[in-house]
Amino acid sequence: MAGVLDDAEISRVLSITAHPDDVDFGSAGTIARWTGAGIEVVYCVVTDGDAGGFDEGFPRAEMAALRRAEQVAAAKCVGVDEVRFLGYPDGRVEATLDLRRDLARVIRQVRPDRVLCPSPERNYTRIGISHPDHRAVGSAALDAVYPDARNPFAFPELRDRESLRAWTVREVWIAGGPDPNRYVDVTETFPAKIAALRAHESQTGHMADLTERLRSRLARTAQLAGLADGRLAEGFRVLDTG
Ligand SMILES: [Zn+2]
Repeated sequence: MAGVLDDAEISRVLSITAHPDDVDFGSAGTIARWTGAGIEVVYCVVTDGDAGGFDEGFPRAEMAALRRAEQVAAAKCVGVDEVRFLGYPDGRVEATLDLRRDLARVIRQVRPDRVLCPSPERNYTRIGISHPDHRAVGSAALDAVYPDARNPFAFPELRDRESLRAWTVREVWIAGGPDPNRYVDVTETFPAKIAALRAHESQTGHMADLTERLRSRLARTAQLAGLADGRLAEGFRVLDTG
C-alpha cells in the first residue's frame, strides 16, 4: 500500500488510549511484535480508568492507583517500559483544546514516527469499542497529530514556555474503527497479549473464558485478512500523515 512505512523505518511509536487496558484489548499482540523488532513504544493513557472495575466492595478512591499499576505491569508483558498518564476523569473525556494541547505536548516530547490511537468513528458491530471516551481521544489524537504537533504556531506556549519544537508524525494506526485496511499476524505474540490482559486483574479477573474469547475474535480478524486457518490477527486503519 502506498505511503505506509515499513517497520524497519520506524524507531518510536506512541500509543494513545483512553483507559488502562484499551491498548491491550486492541493492539498488544502488534505492540509485542514491534518491541520484539527493536522499536521503542511509549504508552500515553488519557484517564486512570477510575470508573472501571466490577467489585463494588473495592474502595473507589483506590481504583485509579490500582489501574495505573495494572497498566504498567501489562506494558512490561509486551516490552513497553514507559507509560504516561494524563489523569483526565474516566467517562467524561471530551475532545477539548486542553486535551489536544496535552497530546501535542506528549507527541513533541516523544517524537514518534507512528502514533496508534482509537477511532473517532462509531463502530456499529461492537458497541463497547466505541466508548465515548475512545471516540473523544481518537478525535483529539488525530487533531494533535495534524495540525497541532507539527505546526510551530499552534499552542505557542508549548514552544515558548516548554521549548518543545514542532514534530511531524508520519503515520497513524487507528484501532477499533469500522474500516480496517491493515492486519497484523499476532499468532506468535498472542500469549504475551493474554498475559498483558491478565495483568488488568480488576478488569479481567472474572473472565474465565478470556483466552478463548480473544482467540475467536482474533481468528475472525485473521479470516478477514485472508490468513490461514489457525492464525490470529489484529486489524487497523493506517493513515499516511507525513
Ligand atoms: Zn476503554
